[in-house]
Amino acid sequence: MSPEIQALPVLIVNPHSRCNCRCTMCDIWKTTDALEIGADELRRQLASIEQMEVEWVVLSGGEPLMHSDLFSLCRALRERGVRITLLSTGLLIARHAAAVAEFIDDVIVSLDGPAAVHDWIRGVPGAFELLAAGIRTLRKQTSRYPIQGRSTVQRANCAHLRDTVKAARDLGLDSISFLPADLTSTAFNRPEGWDAARQQHVGLNAEELIQLQAEIEAIIARVGEKKRPLDEVRDFSFARQAMKELEAGK
Ligand code: SF4
Repeated sequence: MSPEIQALPVLIVNPHSRCNCRCTMCDIWKTTDALEIGADELRRQLASIEQMEVEWVVLSGGEPLMHSDLFSLCRALRERGVRITLLSTGLLIARHAAAVAEFIDDVIVSLDGPAAVHDWIRGVPGAFELLAAGIRTLRKQTSRYPIQGRSTVQRANCAHLRDTVKAARDLGLDSISFLPADLTSTAFNRPEGWDAARQQHVGLNAEELIQLQAEIEAIIARVGEKKRPLDEVRDFSFARQAMKELEAGK
């Protein structure tokens, strides 16, 4: 079998190298070179994108909305029927809401906790409020626009998972997902990896792991409570009753 990649249904593109957050768990924001993919450069790649049968482009970064002409790139992809997802800090969404609604299919915003925790992790005072304003403005463009949250679990927010879920709900997000902070890879602009001190700054100790476990169990219990009414659906009692009434000719 040929080792060559024959198709690439999902393509992750980093249109811009810099970021407008200063997150504790990442060094991308330390990049000083502002590099971006130009519209001409993308045009040169369009034949390859078609040849590789790309169906879905995920814009990541850095912050894609810092690109000087992001929506030209999006237009070129859209013309080829490619679905586009934007991963964003949310800080610039309000400014670009109309174009986001027009050229991007769905947005995933970073949400690392309730306001104070989120701002601390992001290293940007007021980041939560800017995110909230972005979501509000985007929803004004089109109320059913799909916006999901994604949270990076780490030392600073491991005891705030329930608060994060509440914040997601208050912000009007459609869903929230959690992933652990990456402490060991060479991704996130750390080619040498992190030393032990930096890993410990972001990673959880034994006591914090117990806090995290308690948060997860509390969320599961709450979801279980909310699902209780659905259990009645699952045991089909309503269907049995309907069948009885049908048989009785009611
Ligand atoms: S984690 Fe994301 S938002 Fe935070 S600095 Fe890195 S690239 Fe920017």
